[in-house]
Amino acid sequence: MKKMNTKIIERIERLKRKKNAIVLAHYFERPDVMAVADIVAGSTGLIEETLKANADIIVVCGVDFMAETAAILNPDKKVIAPVQRAVCPLALQLTRKELLEAKKENPGSEVLIYLNSLTETKAVADCICTAANAATIADKMDDSLPILFGPDQAVSYYVRKRTIKELITVPEYGACPVHHKIVREDLINAKVAHPEAKIVAHPECIPEVQDHADYIGSTGGMIKYCTETEADEFLVAAEVGLIHMLQKEAPTKIFYPVTTTAICGGMKKTTVVKIEEALEKEKYEVVVPREIAVDVRRAMERMFELA
Ligand code: SF4
Repeated sequence: MKKMNTKIIERIERLKRKKNAIVLAHYFERPDVMAVADIVAGSTGLIEETLKANADIIVVCGVDFMAETAAILNPDKKVIAPVQRAVCPLALQLTRKELLEAKKENPGSEVLIYLNSLTETKAVADCICTAANAATIADKMDDSLPILFGPDQAVSYYVRKRTIKELITVPEYGACPVHHKIVREDLINAKVAHPEAKIVAHPECIPEVQDHADYIGSTGGMIKYCTETEADEFLVAAEVGLIHMLQKEAPTKIFYPVTTTAICGGMKKTTVVKIEEALEKEKYEVVVPREIAVDVRRAMERMFELA
């Protein structure tokens, strides 16, 4: 098994060189997928890396909206997703039609949409945000207008606590089912077992978990906090894949998942075998219809301007 993996890794590296390709992976991917990636990052980091990618082919290991975002930002490059339909269940909770209806019901509001949403929904937004920049952007948006925010209710709670802006959240109960598996009881039990550990939480966690955290932030922010703070032990309220990267970045520290059940199925669909196949056959090419891409790009440019 180990031998086979070494061979696959060699073939992947050969294909990358031959085709001038790079592989990007999100922190929630499988550890062996992250190991063959050239860049491993959270959503914000992946956006930054795709913008400066010096490659003909970009392979994105993540969920659908991440690969589509990379394709929108790199119209001159071939963007490949190793799997089809790596769905984010949170994204499905706000359709373009529903957002258009919410806009009609809230005339005079500015629309701020979380990156973890359908690409066609993002096309109707005034601005996009990630967990790393949502609060900063909300703060810098027009003071005189309420913000129509979606689709994650927990991220909306996180932003509300950091801005005086009025936020109207759509849909009312939008949630990441993975981060919602982390419940208050798990956190309390984990804290009893590890009383010295600092609690770090992702903004997609439910408010009760956020309220108990020593630090709340994006995946990149959580890694920065854990590596820079003096504490030696951490309880991690996030998708379990992040533990792997935390251990890699801070090998002398100890990280405990608050629950081992917070696993994102969409992220785990990609395997090293599928990456090799993706590079070999250059599939599945991600193509976003031009009219959608133009609108999403405009909303992303507002994000770059405000973040
Ligand atoms: S962790 Fe949640 S928000 Fe992130 S991709 Fe998975 S389902 Fe979507």
